[in-house]
Amino acid sequence: MKKLIIAIDGHSSCGKSTLAKAVAKHFSYKYIDTGAMYRAVTLFALEKNFINKNKIDKNALMTAFDNNEINIDFIFNQETEKSDTYLNNINVEDKIRDIDVSNNVSKISEINIVRKNLLELQQNMGKNGKTVMDGRDIGTDVFPDADIKIFLTADVDIRANRRYKELKEKGKNISFTEIKKNITTRDYIDTNRKHNPLRKANDAILIDNSLLTQKQQTDKVVKIIYSVLKK
Ligand code: C5P
Repeated sequence: MKKLIIAIDGHSSCGKSTLAKAVAKHFSYKYIDTGAMYRAVTLFALEKNFINKNKIDKNALMTAFDNNEINIDFIFNQETEKSDTYLNNINVEDKIRDIDVSNNVSKISEINIVRKNLLELQQNMGKNGKTVMDGRDIGTDVFPDADIKIFLTADVDIRANRRYKELKEKGKNISFTEIKKNITTRDYIDTNRKHNPLRKANDAILIDNSLLTQKQQTDKVVKIIYSVLKK
């Protein structure tokens, strides 16, 4: 049986992780959420006060990486049947989804030293295959030879509305406008940054899920994967 690497990239809040998790579950593959890794670094920088009014102390961040002060792991949670993100042995799965982290993460992700460190970690995590990895640069930079590449997108209002409903259900009080602004700003920074910008790899399959249910999009990708496994 082939041990595939499946790369899922795309715009912010378009359901990449929902798709990646469903696909990983179907094939009993490992799922790696690379966005969570950038979020964990952002949380670290916020907690250490490395971010002040839009200015980031890059040297302090670099020193922290050099001194191995930023350790990120994923540990499976039996209760939720999902992997949680750990920063220096502390479960930060909820904290990294806060709007404060969301509003700063794309600025942290622009920094080359952050990208270099996380890219190496991601390549190591996925090197044995049987892995579904989602992010912004997986099919272009982390695993340019991935067996299957998906580029996911959706209408921005639909994305903002889905996220709004999700956060409301979790009891978070954020307006639709704020969510939409966060999504469009992140997309802009992620697409226009110098290092490893978000772009569709030439050989990636484009899926717009604006009008698809979660099941429909999972079925579509599962079918693509079976066609590669059969080859
Ligand atoms: O996937 P998620 O929305 O949680 O990612 C948060 C942010 O992390 C993105 O907006 C982007 O700035 C950054 N990111 C990245 N490269 C990746 C994954 C995420 O730059 N591979």
